[in-house]
Amino acid sequence: MTALPHPASAELGKPELTPQTQKSGGAPNPEQMRQRLDSVDLAIEVMPETETISGVATLGFTARAPVRGLIVDLDRNLPVDAIAIDGKPLPFSAWSNPDGVLRIKLKRRVPTGNKVSARISYGGRPHVAVRAPWDGGFVWAHTPDGSPWVATAVQGEGCDLFWPCMDTPTAEPKVMDIHITVPKGLKAPSNGVFLGTTTLPDGRTTWNWRVKTPNVYAIALNVAPYEVIEGTYKSHFGNTIPTYYWYLPGEKVQAEALFAEFAPTLDFFERTIGPYPFGDEKVGVVETPHKGMEHQTINAYGNEYAMAAEGFDWLFQHEFAHEWFGNQLTAADWDDMWLHEGYASYMQPLYGQWREGDARYLAMLLKSRETILNAAPLVSGKPRAEEDVYTSDKGGPGGDIYVKGSWMLHTLRTLIGDRAFFDATRLAVYGRIDPKPGNFTPRFSNSREFERFVAQVTGKDYGWFFDIYLRQAGLPELIETRTGNMLALRWKTPGDLPFPMPIEVEVNGELRRLAMAGGKDTVSIPPDAHVVIDPMARVLRRSIAIEQAQAWQAAQKAKSKDGK
Ligand SMILES: [Zn+2]
Repeated sequence: MTALPHPASAELGKPELTPQTQKSGGAPNPEQMRQRLDSVDLAIEVMPETETISGVATLGFTARAPVRGLIVDLDRNLPVDAIAIDGKPLPFSAWSNPDGVLRIKLKRRVPTGNKVSARISYGGRPHVAVRAPWDGGFVWAHTPDGSPWVATAVQGEGCDLFWPCMDTPTAEPKVMDIHITVPKGLKAPSNGVFLGTTTLPDGRTTWNWRVKTPNVYAIALNVAPYEVIEGTYKSHFGNTIPTYYWYLPGEKVQAEALFAEFAPTLDFFERTIGPYPFGDEKVGVVETPHKGMEHQTINAYGNEYAMAAEGFDWLFQHEFAHEWFGNQLTAADWDDMWLHEGYASYMQPLYGQWREGDARYLAMLLKSRETILNAAPLVSGKPRAEEDVYTSDKGGPGGDIYVKGSWMLHTLRTLIGDRAFFDATRLAVYGRIDPKPGNFTPRFSNSREFERFVAQVTGKDYGWFFDIYLRQAGLPELIETRTGNMLALRWKTPGDLPFPMPIEVEVNGELRRLAMAGGKDTVSIPPDAHVVIDPMARVLRRSIAIEQAQAWQAAQKAKSKDGK
């Protein structure tokens, strides 16, 4: 999603969620892990008039170990009124959901390797997002002419806000069919391939979709009287990809301008990273009443066609980057969410460089540098729920997963060079350095695997680099000492960890590169030489000026609040 402050949790919309429903990911429930979710068929009716939903979800499971019951995550505010197992109805006494975990007792034990299907009928008034996408739920909005405009965004709390699922990152079903029934005149673009509509006698229509291996938080409902622009993208990999943009009536001119960005943006990603991961489904973007979210093949766009000096729509570009970093490559635990947000944020300066060159790249990076806070490490090394990562007041890295993640990648790219950097990136995204349409499927990764990929492509161990940038809150500081005609540089690091990071120094306009083996180096310079350290800002390091500017800004903000 997009980087902006998280709202206070007290503002969350009614009805109240249980802690279990509120959280997404975290330490998996071992009992739930005995079942694997293979397939989902979700038939859901959206009723904007009453702000309610009614759903029938058929979940196909395989027992990974013998199971006597099934454990499904679902908000208890959406009561279940019937469950059938392999087509046979269960008595009401066979299930309960006191806390957001729907426990279903089976009539007989399912042995390892056997399949079982559960058809769950449920419905009610789903949780409403107050400030989507920073808190999740339904958004019941209206278009300027008063028609219903409905969206879901559930990254923080997870899929269980509106459909029965396993709310853990690795529980992606292989296939999911989605049937969305909406009032007459409304459209419901969603994930994956469009399988057509069916119209009911009273004019309601059902929109049918099928998506493979969806990221579990990336299933989304979007309902409005949308208009659509369709096109095709001819990939240099040889395939042709259908492209769609669903937008509100009356915005054709702006919509066409945004749609015109699709092909050049695809060119950049395909040539820089690799094939668009879901080329056999579609590129899909839909206008939403909230800012944006990386819904797989149906990215949410709510940036109001903002014009920017960079000449492209950063929000569209950021969410689109998540098709590679988030949906194709998914963090196996939300603790490693920097793999989604750090990469997706780095793609904006990288696109700036692709379009306009080094000056734009550095300008964009330097702007984001001012927002790195270094209050907590990017990763904890332990399973973490989504909110505990995105929310800095819960001790998580918060916005640093975006900006520090992006700056870490910039620094890594400088250190190991473009070839190694993009090969390691491709290994993380596709599991191979030679991806082509058809030779990869969505995959899970984590920080340790990424480090192994960097070691594999460089033949060197860069553990020291990741130990500092991923696992320490504070940044390395370059200590500069000048005595006579000698300049001595030394890295001061949290916990005195090793940090042999090379650094460039400009002496009277002449660039020198210091190896900094052992974390220090000296260079002889003319007595009154003018020295600039790291003139091209290649290395993320402590900046006292930025810390002072941040403190001053915080003080100004506090003052203006007091004054009101
Ligand atoms: Zn994002």
